[in-house]
Amino acid sequence: MAKMRAVQVSRPGGPLEIVERDVPEPGPGNVRIKVQACGICHSDSLTLMGEFPGQQYPRVPGHEVAGVIDAVGAGVAGWKLGQRVGVGWNGGYCGYCEQCRRGNFFACQTATRVTGITHDGGYADYLIAAPSALAAIPDAISAAEAAPLLCAGVTTFNCLRNSGARSGELVAVLGLGGLGHLGVQFAAKMGFRTVAIARGKDKEALARKLGATHFIESSSQDPSAELQKLGGASVILSTVTNAGAMKAAMGGLGVKGTFMIIGVDNTLEVPPIQLITASQSVKGWYSGTSIDSQDTLAFCAQTGVRSMNEIYPLERVAAAYEHMLSGKARFRVVLTTGN
Ligand SMILES: [Zn+2]
Ligand SMILES: [Zn+2]
Repeated sequence: MAKMRAVQVSRPGGPLEIVERDVPEPGPGNVRIKVQACGICHSDSLTLMGEFPGQQYPRVPGHEVAGVIDAVGAGVAGWKLGQRVGVGWNGGYCGYCEQCRRGNFFACQTATRVTGITHDGGYADYLIAAPSALAAIPDAISAAEAAPLLCAGVTTFNCLRNSGARSGELVAVLGLGGLGHLGVQFAAKMGFRTVAIARGKDKEALARKLGATHFIESSSQDPSAELQKLGGASVILSTVTNAGAMKAAMGGLGVKGTFMIIGVDNTLEVPPIQLITASQSVKGWYSGTSIDSQDTLAFCAQTGVRSMNEIYPLERVAAAYEHMLSGKARFRVVLTTGN
């Protein structure tokens, strides 16, 4: 039996252990992917800390997986050996439950598969994936470039393209980290007047390089007032995990504006009078399914949007994970396998 490297977690709070495992066989209806790169996402801490309901161990984390189809199980149509593919958070869907039949594949009721959480993910040389979880990777995008686009990328891209903002309108991106640095690029390439809101005057040059036409320094300026001076935002894409920062920007929404939330702080309170009088919305957005990831990758190939990554070999996973957790990564951390 052929062997492979895998990085597993054996218990809640447990370490990332590099172990040798048998290379898994794809059963009927699945494919095996030879992993070339896997991004480290803050959500991987759910697996490490056992915070996802029903988490079972041992588990291999990783839901920003890029590689090549290496074996195809019986009954799989539409995908072939050697094809470059990515897998993200959404690990597939059934296609027959009520929500799937209504087109809400992300809300599938029977196959709640989350890569690296309900089944083994991409911190390994190989993983097994459902065809409904696969996104084709264009030639112009390398595996290491593709990896973060399969979570951070699709989350910001898909949120913005479903936000209701139209070309030429004012769109603000709150936060300039792993999500925000992609959000600013996407917003600019989608043709929005793009405002970056971040802490620290030193971020302005980067924000403008990424395509922002305006920069608001949130510790010395009032983001809401500054956005109102620009006419009010059609959309504010909130990537931060701090309710105070969200509240400080929310007043910058224009009439019928939408505050799109993709970062979590459960203490957030909303201003009902402001929302009512200006017909505004506060809305969350589920990242996306495999076709949304594929659209994200294609858009990046077309427009040149890229994640800025720090690359670590799989063996250095512990250091890489610590670096991600420290908040000092500029901007996404990616493991490569050498495959
Ligand atoms: Zn993620
Ligand atoms: Zn379903």
